[in-house]
Amino acid sequence: MKLLLLSFLLVTSLPCLAQIDINELCSKAGIASLKHLDLDNWDGPNICEKAMSELSVAERRNLEEINNIHQKAAELFGISAFDLFVEPLEIEMLETTLGGLYSFAGSRSISMGVYPQSDYVFNNGIYAHELGHILSGNGNKNLPLSFADLDNSILFTEMFADLIALSLFDEIIIPVSGEESCIDRARYISGGQTYHMAQEYFLSDFSMARVAQCCQSRAVRNRGAPLKGLCEEFSRMGEFSVKLTTPFDPMTIDMSKVDDHQIGIPLLSFMKELSRKTQLQMKEIFKLGFDHKLPRTEVYSCEVNHETKQIEIHTVRSFLQDLRSRLNYAEQLTYDLLAAKHGIEKGLQFGDRHLLDSLNKKESLVCSKIK
Ligand SMILES: [Zn+2]
Repeated sequence: MKLLLLSFLLVTSLPCLAQIDINELCSKAGIASLKHLDLDNWDGPNICEKAMSELSVAERRNLEEINNIHQKAAELFGISAFDLFVEPLEIEMLETTLGGLYSFAGSRSISMGVYPQSDYVFNNGIYAHELGHILSGNGNKNLPLSFADLDNSILFTEMFADLIALSLFDEIIIPVSGEESCIDRARYISGGQTYHMAQEYFLSDFSMARVAQCCQSRAVRNRGAPLKGLCEEFSRMGEFSVKLTTPFDPMTIDMSKVDDHQIGIPLLSFMKELSRKTQLQMKEIFKLGFDHKLPRTEVYSCEVNHETKQIEIHTVRSFLQDLRSRLNYAEQLTYDLLAAKHGIEKGLQFGDRHLLDSLNKKESLVCSKIK
């Protein structure tokens, strides 16, 4: 059986928060609980309730790394880590052969997969990705107001989670101590990914096929744990073969088969190349796009009960316009060249089509874009 959308899932859950005394590191990081779990123990003590002097080396290291990521993420928005969350987070680290690929976020919780016998070392890039889901989805008034709309956009949700990781670490998945780990194949950014690529690139299975192919390579086949365990898990899931043959057409591609993770990748590739060519760091590009008091919108005209109503929506297109407006003239020329090279307009057309489709389904409206 194939396990689809394995990598970096987003789920919704409402963790129950009780009044507890937590240590200073948890309090500083904005977290209510951290648990180190394995498949035999699905619950465990809350490490945040331990005094600082009682923390093991691994517990202290993980709290410090989480705090470091939260502080860096808060800096992107110019706020404190305390203001980053509506309520403190609940975090679990669970030992699994899939490691970081088995990670997901709820509305106020993160569950991180870590390799067995790894002393709960976690992948910082994947954690930042899950954090991105919480930030765009939790309705925090300290964060850009455009998130409320953008979080419903197929182009945005996974792309933004990856953008947080890229802005903080310049990597979506941090490679494991310089060794071949195959998991970075699940999400890979180069300068050359565009919407001119074949449509199969944007469908489910593509990223799984990349990991599976890495597992088949001779250099990797004789590796020990944890890579062996991960690759065995992949071979149990079945075959993933993808042929890149059909040109991507935003107006005809089967929307139900599009992988939310893959569809945003040319946008990330575009921003990464923009960063390289303009010598603006990724975190600066991030700020230029989101640091707007009144972010732009696009306007849709919808028929509701025989009356016409205008609906303003923050879209990825308006986010990109906000970003471009903050560049100087020479940088704007670079932006335009790269946007054409990456086929950004084609991606945005797919975003428009998906948005219109969801608007029309919602409350049976009949909408069209007017501006
Ligand atoms: Zn995700």
